[in-house]
Amino acid sequence: MDYDVIIGLEIHAELKTKSKMFCRCDNDSLDKKPNTTVCPICLGHPGTLPIPNRQAIEWAILAGLALNCKIRELSKFDRKNYFYPDLPKGYQISQYDLPFCSDGHLEVNGRDIKITRLHLEEDTGKSTHPTGKNYTLLDFNRAGTPLIEMVTEPVIKDASEAKKFCQIFQQILRYLDISNADMEKGEMRCEANVSVQEKGKWKYEGNCEIKPIGRYKLNPKVELKNINSFRAIAKAIDYEIKRQIRALGTQEKLGQETRGWDENKGQTIRQRIKETSSDYRYFPEPDIPPIKIDGQWIEKIKAGLIELPLEKKKRFKTEYNFDGATAEILASDKNLASYTEKVISELRAWIEATGDNWERQKNKLAKITGNWLISELFKHLNKDGKSIAEVKITPENFAELVTLVYQDKINSSAGQKILEIMYKKACAEPGRSGGDPTDIMASLGLEQMDNKAELEKVIKAIIEKNPKQVGQYRQGKANVLQFFVGQVMSATKGKANPKIVIEILKKLLPPKVDK
Ligand SMILES: [Zn+2]
Repeated sequence: MDYDVIIGLEIHAELKTKSKMFCRCDNDSLDKKPNTTVCPICLGHPGTLPIPNRQAIEWAILAGLALNCKIRELSKFDRKNYFYPDLPKGYQISQYDLPFCSDGHLEVNGRDIKITRLHLEEDTGKSTHPTGKNYTLLDFNRAGTPLIEMVTEPVIKDASEAKKFCQIFQQILRYLDISNADMEKGEMRCEANVSVQEKGKWKYEGNCEIKPIGRYKLNPKVELKNINSFRAIAKAIDYEIKRQIRALGTQEKLGQETRGWDENKGQTIRQRIKETSSDYRYFPEPDIPPIKIDGQWIEKIKAGLIELPLEKKKRFKTEYNFDGATAEILASDKNLASYTEKVISELRAWIEATGDNWERQKNKLAKITGNWLISELFKHLNKDGKSIAEVKITPENFAELVTLVYQDKINSSAGQKILEIMYKKACAEPGRSGGDPTDIMASLGLEQMDNKAELEKVIKAIIEKNPKQVGQYRQGKANVLQFFVGQVMSATKGKANPKIVIEILKKLLPPKVDK
Protein backbone atom coordinates (compact mmCIF):
# COMPACT_ATOMS: atom_id res chain seq x y z
CA MET A 1 0.00 0.00 0.00
CA ASP A 2 1.23 3.52 -0.79
CA TYR A 3 0.85 6.20 1.86
CA ASP A 4 1.07 9.99 2.05
CA VAL A 5 2.70 11.39 5.16
CA ILE A 6 0.99 14.45 6.67
CA ILE A 7 2.80 16.53 9.25
CA GLY A 8 1.84 19.69 11.11
CA LEU A 9 4.16 21.48 13.51
CA GLU A 10 3.57 23.32 16.75
CA ILE A 11 6.54 25.28 18.02
CA HIS A 12 6.82 27.09 21.33
CA ALA A 13 9.58 29.64 21.92
CA GLU A 14 10.38 31.65 25.04
CA LEU A 15 10.80 35.38 24.43
CA LYS A 16 13.84 36.95 26.07
CA THR A 17 12.09 40.03 27.45
CA LYS A 18 13.55 41.59 30.61
CA SER A 19 10.48 40.87 32.73
CA LYS A 20 7.84 38.15 32.63
CA MET A 21 4.57 38.18 30.67
CA PHE A 22 2.22 39.56 33.33
CA CYS A 23 4.44 40.72 36.21
CA ARG A 24 7.75 42.49 36.81
CA CYS A 25 9.73 39.39 37.81
CA ASP A 26 13.12 38.86 36.17
CA ASN A 27 12.54 36.75 33.06
CA ASP A 28 16.10 35.44 33.00
CA SER A 29 16.08 32.52 35.41
CA LEU A 30 18.87 30.41 33.87
CA ASP A 31 21.37 29.47 36.59
CA LYS A 32 19.17 31.05 39.28
CA LYS A 33 18.11 29.15 42.40
CA PRO A 34 14.67 27.54 42.13
CA ASN A 35 11.72 29.73 43.11
CA THR A 36 13.71 32.97 43.42
CA THR A 37 12.29 34.91 40.43
CA VAL A 38 8.66 34.70 41.50
CA CYS A 39 5.94 36.97 42.90
CA PRO A 40 2.27 36.61 43.88
CA ILE A 41 1.18 37.28 40.26
CA CYS A 42 3.19 34.53 38.57
CA LEU A 43 2.49 32.21 41.49
CA GLY A 44 -1.23 32.76 40.86
CA HIS A 45 -2.23 34.08 44.28
CA PRO A 46 -5.91 35.03 44.47
CA GLY A 47 -6.65 38.71 44.05
CA THR A 48 -3.58 39.56 41.97
CA LEU A 49 -3.93 41.26 38.57
CA PRO A 50 -1.92 40.42 35.47
CA ILE A 51 -0.58 43.34 33.40
CA PRO A 52 0.51 42.38 29.85
CA ASN A 53 4.12 43.02 28.81
CA ARG A 54 4.09 45.42 25.87
CA GLN A 55 7.49 44.28 24.60
CA ALA A 56 6.29 40.67 24.50
CA ILE A 57 3.21 41.66 22.48
CA GLU A 58 5.35 43.63 20.02
CA TRP A 59 7.81 40.74 19.62
CA ALA A 60 5.01 38.23 19.05
CA ILE A 61 3.65 40.51 16.32
CA LEU A 62 7.16 40.98 14.89
CA ALA A 63 7.57 37.18 14.67
CA GLY A 64 4.19 37.02 12.93
CA LEU A 65 5.25 39.69 10.43
CA ALA A 66 8.44 37.74 9.70
CA LEU A 67 6.23 34.75 8.88
CA ASN A 68 4.07 36.83 6.51
CA CYS A 69 1.06 36.65 8.85
CA LYS A 70 -1.97 38.91 8.97
CA ILE A 71 -2.09 40.91 12.19
CA ARG A 72 -5.49 41.13 13.87
CA GLU A 73 -6.79 44.60 14.73
CA LEU A 74 -8.49 43.37 17.86
CA SER A 75 -7.04 40.56 19.90
CA LYS A 76 -7.58 39.15 23.38
CA PHE A 77 -6.22 36.76 25.97
CA ASP A 78 -8.11 33.67 27.15
CA ARG A 79 -7.87 31.27 30.02
CA LYS A 80 -6.97 27.70 29.18
CA ASN A 81 -8.13 25.63 32.14
CA TYR A 82 -6.39 22.47 33.23
CA PHE A 83 -4.87 21.02 36.33
CA TYR A 84 -1.18 20.32 36.61
CA PRO A 85 1.15 20.84 39.59
CA ASP A 86 3.40 23.25 37.64
CA LEU A 87 0.42 25.53 36.91
CA PRO A 88 -0.50 27.09 40.25
CA LYS A 89 -3.39 29.20 38.91
CA GLY A 90 -5.23 26.17 37.53
CA TYR A 91 -5.28 27.92 34.16
CA GLN A 92 -2.80 29.31 31.67
CA ILE A 93 -3.32 32.73 30.11
CA SER A 94 -3.16 32.07 26.38
CA GLN A 95 -5.02 33.11 23.23
CA TYR A 96 -7.86 31.06 21.80
CA ASP A 97 -9.97 32.39 18.92
CA LEU A 98 -8.34 35.79 18.36
CA PRO A 99 -4.56 35.22 18.18
CA PHE A 100 -2.38 38.21 17.32
CA CYS A 101 -1.19 36.67 14.03
CA SER A 102 -2.70 34.25 11.52
CA ASP A 103 -2.60 33.07 7.88
CA GLY A 104 1.12 33.28 7.21
CA HIS A 105 3.63 31.26 5.23
CA LEU A 106 7.31 30.40 5.33
CA GLU A 107 9.46 29.23 2.42
CA VAL A 108 11.28 25.96 3.14
CA ASN A 109 13.47 24.51 0.36
CA GLY A 110 11.49 26.42 -2.24
CA ARG A 111 8.05 25.33 -0.94
CA ASP A 112 5.72 27.68 0.91
CA ILE A 113 4.54 26.13 4.18
CA LYS A 114 1.25 27.60 5.36
CA ILE A 115 1.13 28.93 8.88
CA THR A 116 -2.19 28.80 10.71
CA ARG A 117 -1.48 31.12 13.60
CA LEU A 118 0.99 32.57 16.05
CA HIS A 119 -0.12 33.61 19.51
CA LEU A 120 1.26 34.71 22.85
CA GLU A 121 0.88 32.94 26.18
CA GLU A 122 2.68 32.38 29.46
CA ASP A 123 4.99 29.46 30.20
CA THR A 124 4.39 27.10 33.12
CA GLY A 125 6.74 26.15 35.96
CA LYS A 126 9.01 23.13 35.77
CA SER A 127 8.51 19.87 37.61
CA THR A 128 11.26 17.36 38.20
CA HIS A 129 10.82 13.82 39.43
CA PRO A 130 13.97 12.77 41.31
CA THR A 131 14.74 9.14 40.54
CA GLY A 132 13.85 6.71 43.29
CA LYS A 133 11.91 9.33 45.27
CA ASN A 134 8.17 9.44 45.86
CA TYR A 135 7.85 13.19 45.44
CA THR A 136 8.04 15.83 42.69
CA LEU A 137 10.03 19.07 42.89
CA LEU A 138 8.50 22.26 41.54
CA ASP A 139 10.35 25.34 40.31
CA PHE A 140 8.21 28.34 39.37
CA ASN A 141 10.99 30.56 38.00
CA ARG A 142 9.82 29.81 34.47
CA ALA A 143 6.12 30.35 35.32
CA GLY A 144 4.94 33.47 33.49
CA THR A 145 7.76 33.63 30.94
CA PRO A 146 6.35 35.01 27.65
CA LEU A 147 5.95 32.19 25.18
CA ILE A 148 4.96 32.34 21.52
CA GLU A 149 3.21 29.39 19.98
CA MET A 150 3.35 28.95 16.20
CA VAL A 151 1.18 26.38 14.43
CA THR A 152 1.51 25.26 10.80
CA GLU A 153 -1.18 23.70 8.64
CA PRO A 154 -0.76 19.93 8.16
CA VAL A 155 1.11 20.43 4.88
CA ILE A 156 4.62 19.19 5.66
CA LYS A 157 5.52 16.09 3.68
CA ASP A 158 8.40 14.38 5.43
CA ALA A 159 10.77 14.40 8.39
CA SER A 160 13.51 16.36 6.66
CA GLU A 161 11.13 19.15 5.65
CA ALA A 162 9.85 19.34 9.24
CA LYS A 163 13.41 19.53 10.56
CA LYS A 164 14.32 22.24 8.06
CA PHE A 165 11.24 24.27 9.00
CA CYS A 166 12.25 24.18 12.67
CA GLN A 167 15.81 25.23 11.80
CA ILE A 168 14.64 28.18 9.70
CA PHE A 169 12.17 29.21 12.41
CA GLN A 170 14.99 29.21 14.96
CA GLN A 171 17.20 31.28 12.63
CA ILE A 172 14.42 33.86 12.27
CA LEU A 173 13.87 34.18 16.03
CA ARG A 174 17.61 34.64 16.50
CA TYR A 175 17.87 37.16 13.65
CA LEU A 176 15.05 39.17 15.22
CA ASP A 177 16.87 38.86 18.55
CA ILE A 178 13.66 38.01 20.41
CA SER A 179 14.49 34.49 21.63
CA ASN A 180 17.62 32.42 22.21
CA ALA A 181 15.57 29.50 20.91
CA ASP A 182 18.02 26.90 22.20
CA MET A 183 16.28 23.53 21.97
CA GLU A 184 18.62 21.79 24.41
CA LYS A 185 17.73 24.40 27.04
CA GLY A 186 14.01 24.12 26.35
CA GLU A 187 13.81 27.71 25.05
CA MET A 188 12.34 26.33 21.84
CA ARG A 189 10.14 23.22 21.88
CA CYS A 190 8.85 21.49 18.76
CA GLU A 191 5.89 19.16 18.59
CA ALA A 192 4.77 17.35 15.46
CA ASN A 193 1.38 15.97 14.48
CA VAL A 194 1.95 12.98 12.23
CA SER A 195 -0.50 10.82 10.32
CA VAL A 196 -0.30 8.57 7.26
CA GLN A 197 -3.15 8.29 4.75
CA GLU A 198 -3.62 6.02 1.76
CA LYS A 199 -2.62 7.75 -1.47
CA GLY A 200 -5.54 9.09 -3.47
CA LYS A 201 -8.05 8.50 -0.65
CA TRP A 202 -8.00 11.96 0.91
CA LYS A 203 -7.84 15.64 -0.06
CA TYR A 204 -7.37 19.11 1.41
CA GLU A 205 -10.51 21.21 1.77
CA GLY A 206 -10.93 24.87 2.65
CA ASN A 207 -7.94 25.99 4.67
CA CYS A 208 -5.97 22.73 4.53
CA GLU A 209 -8.49 20.57 6.31
CA ILE A 210 -7.94 16.88 5.61
CA LYS A 211 -11.06 15.17 4.26
CA PRO A 212 -11.61 11.56 3.22
CA ILE A 213 -12.68 10.75 -0.33
CA GLY A 214 -15.67 8.38 -0.60
CA ARG A 215 -15.96 5.82 2.19
CA TYR A 216 -12.33 6.02 3.24
CA LYS A 217 -11.83 6.42 6.98
CA LEU A 218 -8.99 8.81 7.91
CA ASN A 219 -6.21 7.38 10.06
CA PRO A 220 -5.76 9.23 13.35
CA LYS A 221 -2.90 11.65 13.93
CA VAL A 222 -0.34 11.22 16.66
CA GLU A 223 1.20 14.13 18.52
CA LEU A 224 4.93 13.81 19.15
CA LYS A 225 6.42 15.56 22.18
CA ASN A 226 9.59 15.69 24.21
CA ILE A 227 11.86 16.44 21.25
CA ASN A 228 15.06 18.19 22.32
CA SER A 229 17.11 18.64 19.17
CA PHE A 230 16.79 19.04 15.42
CA ARG A 231 18.25 15.58 14.94
CA ALA A 232 15.59 14.15 17.25
CA ILE A 233 12.79 15.84 15.23
CA ALA A 234 13.77 13.95 12.11
CA LYS A 235 14.39 10.68 13.96
CA ALA A 236 11.12 10.81 15.93
CA ILE A 237 9.02 11.57 12.84
CA ASP A 238 10.72 8.88 10.76
CA TYR A 239 10.20 6.33 13.52
CA GLU A 240 6.56 7.31 13.87
CA ILE A 241 5.84 7.06 10.12
CA LYS A 242 7.30 3.55 10.04
CA ARG A 243 5.40 2.53 13.18
CA GLN A 244 2.07 3.77 11.82
CA ILE A 245 2.51 2.12 8.42
CA ARG A 246 3.54 -1.14 10.06
CA ALA A 247 0.50 -1.01 12.38
CA LEU A 248 -1.85 -0.42 9.46
CA GLY A 249 -0.35 -3.41 7.67
CA THR A 250 -1.11 -5.69 10.60
CA GLN A 251 -4.64 -4.35 11.20
CA GLU A 252 -3.46 -3.07 14.57
CA LYS A 253 -5.69 -0.25 15.78
CA LEU A 254 -4.10 3.21 15.64
CA GLY A 255 -5.45 5.76 18.09
CA GLN A 256 -5.26 9.51 18.46
CA GLU A 257 -2.68 9.87 21.18
CA THR A 258 0.34 11.76 22.44
CA ARG A 259 3.68 9.99 22.23
CA GLY A 260 7.02 11.08 23.65
CA TRP A 261 10.39 10.62 21.96
CA ASP A 262 12.78 8.43 23.93
CA GLU A 263 16.26 9.37 22.72
CA ASN A 264 17.99 6.40 24.38
CA LYS A 265 15.63 3.79 23.01
CA GLY A 266 15.22 5.60 19.69
CA GLN A 267 11.46 5.08 19.94
CA THR A 268 8.26 7.01 20.48
CA ILE A 269 6.32 5.91 23.56
CA ARG A 270 2.65 6.39 24.36
CA GLN A 271 2.07 9.10 26.96
CA ARG A 272 -1.67 9.72 26.95
CA ILE A 273 -4.81 9.70 24.89
CA LYS A 274 -5.17 13.18 23.47
CA GLU A 275 -7.62 15.70 24.89
CA THR A 276 -9.67 17.78 22.48
CA SER A 277 -9.60 21.56 22.89
CA SER A 278 -13.05 21.65 24.54
CA ASP A 279 -11.54 19.87 27.52
CA TYR A 280 -9.70 23.09 28.29
CA ARG A 281 -12.93 25.08 28.63
CA TYR A 282 -11.38 28.26 27.18
CA PHE A 283 -13.01 31.55 28.13
CA PRO A 284 -11.92 35.20 27.78
CA GLU A 285 -9.47 36.39 30.46
CA PRO A 286 -11.65 38.77 32.50
CA ASP A 287 -8.70 40.68 34.01
CA ILE A 288 -7.17 41.86 30.71
CA PRO A 289 -9.20 44.02 28.31
CA PRO A 290 -9.03 43.17 24.58
CA ILE A 291 -6.02 44.68 22.82
CA LYS A 292 -6.39 47.02 19.86
CA ILE A 293 -3.55 46.99 17.35
CA ASP A 294 -3.80 49.90 14.94
CA GLY A 295 -1.86 50.48 11.73
CA GLN A 296 0.43 53.00 13.36
CA TRP A 297 1.51 50.51 16.00
CA ILE A 298 2.11 47.82 13.36
CA GLU A 299 4.24 50.26 11.33
CA LYS A 300 6.34 50.94 14.42
CA ILE A 301 6.83 47.20 15.00
CA LYS A 302 7.65 46.65 11.30
CA ALA A 303 10.66 48.91 11.70
CA GLY A 304 12.31 46.00 13.56
CA LEU A 305 11.86 43.72 10.57
CA ILE A 306 15.41 43.35 9.31
CA GLU A 307 16.64 41.30 6.35
CA LEU A 308 15.83 37.68 7.26
CA PRO A 309 17.96 34.57 6.55
CA LEU A 310 16.15 33.53 3.38
CA GLU A 311 16.32 37.00 1.79
CA LYS A 312 19.94 37.28 2.86
CA LYS A 313 20.77 33.93 1.31
CA LYS A 314 19.17 35.00 -1.97
CA ARG A 315 21.03 38.32 -1.95
CA PHE A 316 24.36 36.60 -1.14
CA LYS A 317 23.87 34.40 -4.20
CA THR A 318 23.15 37.25 -6.59
CA GLU A 319 25.43 39.88 -5.09
CA TYR A 320 28.56 37.78 -4.46
CA ASN A 321 27.87 34.81 -6.71
CA PHE A 322 28.11 32.35 -3.79
CA ASP A 323 26.81 28.88 -4.59
CA GLY A 324 23.58 27.85 -2.83
CA ALA A 325 25.19 25.79 -0.09
CA THR A 326 27.77 28.46 0.77
CA ALA A 327 25.16 31.23 0.78
CA GLU A 328 22.93 29.16 3.04
CA ILE A 329 25.65 28.53 5.61
CA LEU A 330 26.86 32.14 5.63
CA ALA A 331 23.30 33.49 6.00
CA SER A 332 22.24 30.99 8.66
CA ASP A 333 23.58 33.09 11.51
CA LYS A 334 23.22 36.86 11.73
CA ASN A 335 26.70 37.39 13.20
CA LEU A 336 28.36 35.19 10.60
CA ALA A 337 26.52 36.97 7.77
CA SER A 338 27.53 40.35 9.07
CA TYR A 339 31.15 39.20 9.58
CA THR A 340 31.23 37.93 5.99
CA GLU A 341 29.99 41.26 4.67
CA LYS A 342 32.49 43.21 6.77
CA VAL A 343 35.34 41.09 5.38
CA ILE A 344 34.07 41.63 1.84
CA SER A 345 33.77 45.36 2.40
CA GLU A 346 37.40 45.46 3.63
CA LEU A 347 38.42 43.60 0.48
CA ARG A 348 36.55 46.10 -1.64
CA ALA A 349 38.32 49.01 0.01
CA TRP A 350 41.65 47.27 -0.62
CA ILE A 351 40.90 46.54 -4.30
CA GLU A 352 39.73 50.10 -4.90
CA ALA A 353 42.83 51.48 -3.17
CA THR A 354 44.99 49.52 -5.62
CA GLY A 355 43.09 51.16 -8.49
CA ASP A 356 41.59 47.86 -9.63
CA ASN A 357 37.97 47.31 -10.61
CA TRP A 358 35.91 45.84 -7.75
CA GLU A 359 33.16 44.36 -9.94
CA ARG A 360 35.78 42.39 -11.86
CA GLN A 361 37.48 40.92 -8.75
CA LYS A 362 34.43 40.63 -6.48
CA ASN A 363 33.35 37.07 -7.26
CA LYS A 364 36.82 35.62 -6.95
CA LEU A 365 37.51 37.35 -3.63
CA ALA A 366 34.08 36.43 -2.26
CA LYS A 367 34.71 32.82 -3.18
CA ILE A 368 38.05 32.73 -1.35
CA THR A 369 36.39 34.43 1.65
CA GLY A 370 33.57 31.88 1.75
CA ASN A 371 35.98 28.94 1.48
CA TRP A 372 38.31 30.21 4.18
CA LEU A 373 35.43 30.97 6.54
CA ILE A 374 33.57 27.71 6.07
CA SER A 375 36.36 25.20 5.49
CA GLU A 376 39.13 26.69 7.59
CA LEU A 377 37.80 28.98 10.34
CA PHE A 378 34.88 26.63 11.04
CA LYS A 379 37.32 23.77 11.63
CA HIS A 380 38.62 25.64 14.69
CA LEU A 381 35.21 26.91 15.80
CA ASN A 382 33.56 23.48 15.59
CA LYS A 383 36.43 21.81 17.42
CA ASP A 384 36.02 24.23 20.36
CA GLY A 385 32.22 24.53 20.13
CA LYS A 386 32.51 28.30 19.62
CA SER A 387 30.47 30.69 17.52
CA ILE A 388 31.85 33.43 15.29
CA ALA A 389 30.63 36.07 17.77
CA GLU A 390 33.04 34.71 20.39
CA VAL A 391 36.14 34.92 18.20
CA LYS A 392 37.86 38.26 17.99
CA ILE A 393 39.74 37.91 14.72
CA THR A 394 38.89 41.30 13.23
CA PRO A 395 37.31 41.40 9.75
CA GLU A 396 40.29 43.56 8.71
CA ASN A 397 42.77 40.84 9.63
CA PHE A 398 40.68 38.10 8.09
CA ALA A 399 40.38 40.14 4.88
CA GLU A 400 44.14 40.56 4.83
CA LEU A 401 44.60 36.80 5.06
CA VAL A 402 42.29 36.49 2.05
CA THR A 403 44.39 39.00 0.10
CA LEU A 404 47.57 37.02 0.83
CA VAL A 405 45.94 33.90 -0.61
CA TYR A 406 44.46 35.86 -3.51
CA GLN A 407 47.84 37.34 -4.46
CA ASP A 408 49.55 33.94 -4.21
CA LYS A 409 51.84 35.33 -1.52
CA ILE A 410 51.15 32.23 0.55
CA ASN A 411 50.00 28.79 -0.41
CA SER A 412 47.11 27.08 1.23
CA SER A 413 49.10 25.20 3.87
CA ALA A 414 50.86 28.40 4.93
CA GLY A 415 47.46 30.12 5.08
CA GLN A 416 46.16 27.40 7.36
CA LYS A 417 49.19 27.80 9.62
CA ILE A 418 48.69 31.58 9.79
CA LEU A 419 44.97 31.27 10.49
CA GLU A 420 45.61 28.79 13.27
CA ILE A 421 47.98 31.26 14.94
CA MET A 422 45.47 34.12 14.48
CA TYR A 423 42.72 31.97 15.99
CA LYS A 424 44.79 30.85 18.98
CA LYS A 425 45.87 34.42 19.68
CA ALA A 426 42.31 35.70 19.46
CA CYS A 427 41.15 33.00 21.90
CA ALA A 428 44.06 33.37 24.31
CA GLU A 429 43.90 37.13 24.67
CA PRO A 430 40.32 38.16 25.27
CA GLY A 431 39.54 41.59 23.95
CA ARG A 432 42.44 41.44 21.50
CA SER A 433 42.49 40.58 17.87
CA GLY A 434 44.27 37.59 16.37
CA GLY A 435 47.16 39.58 15.04
CA ASP A 436 48.18 40.75 11.59
CA PRO A 437 48.53 37.87 9.10
CA THR A 438 51.25 39.66 7.13
CA ASP A 439 53.35 40.01 10.31
CA ILE A 440 52.79 36.34 11.15
CA MET A 441 53.76 35.36 7.61
CA ALA A 442 56.97 37.41 7.81
CA SER A 443 57.96 36.23 11.29
CA LEU A 444 57.58 32.58 10.31
CA GLY A 445 59.08 33.04 6.85
CA LEU A 446 55.99 31.57 5.24
CA GLU A 447 56.00 33.84 2.23
CA GLN A 448 55.62 31.81 -0.89
CA MET A 449 58.74 31.39 -3.03
CA ASP A 450 57.88 32.53 -6.51
CA ASN A 451 61.28 33.64 -7.67
CA LYS A 452 61.65 31.55 -10.83
CA ALA A 453 65.45 31.59 -11.02
CA GLU A 454 65.76 30.39 -7.41
CA LEU A 455 63.16 27.70 -7.91
CA GLU A 456 64.84 26.50 -11.10
CA LYS A 457 68.07 25.93 -9.19
CA VAL A 458 66.28 23.82 -6.58
CA ILE A 459 64.35 21.86 -9.19
CA LYS A 460 67.41 21.11 -11.33
CA ALA A 461 69.17 19.60 -8.32
CA ILE A 462 66.18 17.41 -7.53
CA ILE A 463 65.90 16.16 -11.11
CA GLU A 464 69.58 15.19 -11.11
CA LYS A 465 69.22 13.27 -7.86
CA ASN A 466 66.28 11.18 -9.10
CA PRO A 467 67.15 9.59 -12.45
CA LYS A 468 64.85 6.62 -11.82
CA GLN A 469 61.78 8.85 -11.47
CA VAL A 470 62.85 10.86 -14.51
CA GLY A 471 62.81 7.62 -16.48
CA GLN A 472 59.35 6.75 -15.18
CA TYR A 473 58.15 10.21 -16.16
CA ARG A 474 59.43 9.65 -19.69
CA GLN A 475 57.50 6.36 -19.82
CA GLY A 476 54.36 8.38 -19.05
CA LYS A 477 53.76 7.31 -15.43
CA ALA A 478 51.13 9.82 -14.37
CA ASN A 479 51.82 10.48 -10.70
CA VAL A 480 55.58 11.03 -10.99
CA LEU A 481 55.02 14.75 -11.48
CA GLN A 482 53.36 14.83 -8.06
CA PHE A 483 56.43 13.11 -6.62
CA PHE A 484 58.64 15.91 -7.93
CA VAL A 485 56.29 18.62 -6.65
CA GLY A 486 56.41 16.96 -3.22
CA GLN A 487 60.25 16.91 -3.31
CA VAL A 488 60.36 20.62 -4.20
CA MET A 489 57.87 21.50 -1.46
CA SER A 490 59.88 19.64 1.16
CA ALA A 491 63.16 21.18 -0.07
CA THR A 492 61.60 24.66 0.24
CA LYS A 493 59.85 23.89 3.54
CA GLY A 494 56.45 24.16 1.86
CA LYS A 495 57.05 27.68 0.61
CA ALA A 496 57.32 27.12 -3.12
CA ASN A 497 54.47 28.37 -5.24
CA PRO A 498 53.08 25.07 -6.60
CA LYS A 499 51.79 26.65 -9.81
CA ILE A 500 55.25 27.90 -10.74
CA VAL A 501 56.88 24.63 -9.63
CA ILE A 502 54.71 22.64 -12.05
CA GLU A 503 55.41 25.10 -14.82
CA ILE A 504 59.21 24.76 -14.34
CA LEU A 505 59.07 20.97 -13.91
CA LYS A 506 57.24 20.58 -17.19
CA LYS A 507 59.89 22.69 -18.85
CA LEU A 508 62.94 20.94 -17.33
CA LEU A 509 61.83 17.30 -17.40
CA PRO A 510 62.63 15.41 -20.60
CA PRO A 511 59.69 14.96 -22.97
CA LYS A 512 57.57 11.85 -22.67
CA VAL A 513 58.33 9.01 -25.08
CA ASP A 514 55.61 8.33 -27.63
CA LYS A 515 54.36 4.79 -27.25
ZN1 LIG B 1 6.14 37.39 39.03
